Amino acid sequence: MSQRPQAVQARLWSEEEVRYGEVAVDLAAAGADRLFTYAFPPDLDLVPGTWVEVPFHSRKLIGCYIGPAPAPPPGVQVRPIAGVVRELPPLPQDLIDLARWVADRYLCTFAAALRLCIPAGARRRQVREREVAAVALAAPRAEVAAAMEAAERRRAHLQARVLAMLLERPGPVPLAEIAARLGDHARAALRPLLDRGLIRRVTLTARRDPFGGRAALPDAERSLTPAQREALAAVERALADDNPFAPRRPILIHGVTGSGKTEVYLQAIARVLARGQQAIVLVPEISLTPQTVGRFRARFGDRVAVLHSALSEGERWDEWLRIRRGEVDIVVGARSAVFAPVERLGMIIVDEEHESTYKQETTPPYHAREVAEERCRRAGAVLVLGSATPAVETYWRAERGEIERVVLPERVDGRPLPPVELVDMREELRAFNRSIFSRRLQEALDETLGRGEQAILFLNRRGYNTFVLCRACGEAIACPNCAVALTYHLPGPGQPHPRRLECHYCGHTEPVPSTCPRCGSDKIRYLGAGTERVEAELRELFPRARVLRLDVDTTRRKGAHGEILGAFSRGEADVLIGTQMVAKGLDFGRVTLVGVVLADTTANLPDFRAAERTFQLITQVAGRAGRGDRPGRAVVQTYMPHHPAIAAAARGDIAGFYARELAWRKVQGYPPFADFVRLLFTGPEEGEVALAARAAYQALLPYGKDGAMEVREPGPAPLVRLRGQWRYHLLLHGPDRQAMVAAVRAALGGRRLPGKGVRMSVDVGPYTIL
Ligand code: ADP
Ligand code: ZN
Ligand code: ZN
Repeated sequence: MSQRPQAVQARLWSEEEVRYGEVAVDLAAAGADRLFTYAFPPDLDLVPGTWVEVPFHSRKLIGCYIGPAPAPPPGVQVRPIAGVVRELPPLPQDLIDLARWVADRYLCTFAAALRLCIPAGARRRQVREREVAAVALAAPRAEVAAAMEAAERRRAHLQARVLAMLLERPGPVPLAEIAARLGDHARAALRPLLDRGLIRRVTLTARRDPFGGRAALPDAERSLTPAQREALAAVERALADDNPFAPRRPILIHGVTGSGKTEVYLQAIARVLARGQQAIVLVPEISLTPQTVGRFRARFGDRVAVLHSALSEGERWDEWLRIRRGEVDIVVGARSAVFAPVERLGMIIVDEEHESTYKQETTPPYHAREVAEERCRRAGAVLVLGSATPAVETYWRAERGEIERVVLPERVDGRPLPPVELVDMREELRAFNRSIFSRRLQEALDETLGRGEQAILFLNRRGYNTFVLCRACGEAIACPNCAVALTYHLPGPGQPHPRRLECHYCGHTEPVPSTCPRCGSDKIRYLGAGTERVEAELRELFPRARVLRLDVDTTRRKGAHGEILGAFSRGEADVLIGTQMVAKGLDFGRVTLVGVVLADTTANLPDFRAAERTFQLITQVAGRAGRGDRPGRAVVQTYMPHHPAIAAAARGDIAGFYARELAWRKVQGYPPFADFVRLLFTGPEEGEVALAARAAYQALLPYGKDGAMEVREPGPAPLVRLRGQWRYHLLLHGPDRQAMVAAVRAALGGRRLPGKGVRMSVDVGPYTIL
């Protein structure tokens, strides 16, 4: 409907005047991967990165102006843009370039990659800066002061107090603040002041502060241990080295838990700031607790912005704007913060760099550590990776010297690492102990609680029982939408449902049946323990213990996560039970016991990273113990005490674990020696999904002919149904990930596959192939 005025406008610009520009139109992720040419008014001062509104077919879409385009051939109609989107600041050129790299590397459209660079709410134009009504002085201060005294004499007290409030301060005062201080009726007193021209109405933009205006307690640099000094020196050398021809090597700070890595980051950032540059700190979503962020704010105050998924759209947008305007020097955030619009980037720190949350599984399937490395390379910035248990890939690169490694082998103050004791749960069965707690763990809990110390119990599964089995027909009760067993949950605080079965993939819930829905038998058994069961058994064994639980079910409410951790750190509970949420980054001085209720849950996953994850989880969670003055210990329960990852973690044999794991991966052709590209086909009909997968396979087969890559036969994915959709997949396997990406692009790019209602998605370097 807005077509006609634009056409008229286009004719107003003469042939010579009109300019053409290329626009990355914000199409849905699966849209066409090309730029579109539009006509721009001649007097517009455009920089690349400017957001514009453009007509697209019959719709109006937003797009990013990338640069000038050649004039179209005669006769080709080019439509004019509909306008410039002023409320979105232009994207910086380096992010545009980075998005192009992401699109190329991870096989997505340029538009999809650009979406990473700006908060979704702002791109959809659903968030604005928050505006608040305020009043400001409109007359010289002396005149206002005289008017105030006159009002006082007239006994117009409210008017006098409003003027006093405005005189107290240099700037405008929000109406809400006046009402809060002087009462709602104070608004009435504004009218005569406005009429007399003493004050005027103004609009302020108000920042939505994720910290709710709370300042962090300031904290000073600590004097470093010798090992920390060496780590900082390595960072300083890298910062000082500005030879543009030799790219700086990333630095890996391989430091045991509690070795003071965070203190090194803080002092490294101070060096970056001293050079007039800025830093991005990536942390796993899970450790974006008030505790972690608080340490950065304590050191750097308001110069810190945060970006993570728990922010409201408004908070996220305001934080993003503060970064874009250069009002902050440090961005602390989850995965997507690697795309934060900092202009003078000096360093990116990736804490807990081995964490799988840095890998995005949906389009674009990027890995934040890889993007961070590329961004640093382009900006001449320093990449710092930190972990107690580096990714196998990172460890390998450090061994080869591609990454500079500094080791922090000991905890600060020389506190010992907690000894890890393995408990063979098969022995417990033989001794007729049917509890989920071994005798050893019970003793240890008893001692810990008796001494008034704290314990953390870790189990990587939530719910009460992880499956419900019919003993007559042998079937586990499965989700109607997904090929997974349902989990049995007890009613919990804040959960409206009574006892229920729940699918952890799609959220489906149903009441607990008294008979088997398949065969009608009443021989129903509840098996497999989750965190709710741990809590229930613990309360039974230690009725006086004060217990908190930290998992998805207890943290659904905003702020609940921080409240639970806060209560535990203030000593309001004796035991904290949790899923992997308790494994990372927590620093509680009074915890002296960590119990791993069952180490086997991750080890048994059908995934080549299962051993690595198990090793990392046990090492990390054990590291939560003994971080104060009292020594800690860890008790790890397992049915597989000889599993290499579990045994190595218990011995603290880091080098041994990596050597063995790397040897195995080399033989198997797993990363870092080779990698995968996975094509996933989903749709409502299994036959159609299989058909699409088969067609893709046929198209890709020629690319496997020369042996550069292996095109594996497609088949059902391990999780063959999810949310009512059938899932088939196809794996490409080979030493060169970019060659596989190129093959997919060449074989399938822009091509329609058969199969009704089937969607294909690509994962490059997948972290899960479920
Ligand atoms: P990591 O990040 O390696 O787990 P942290 O930086 O959290 O280790 O340090 C562990 C504890 O030791 C923290 O409480 C921290 O404040 C303290 N700490 C770190 N470095 C020093 C130091 N040089 N002197 C004294 N205390 C330190
Ligand atoms: Zn049955
Ligand atoms: Zn489901």
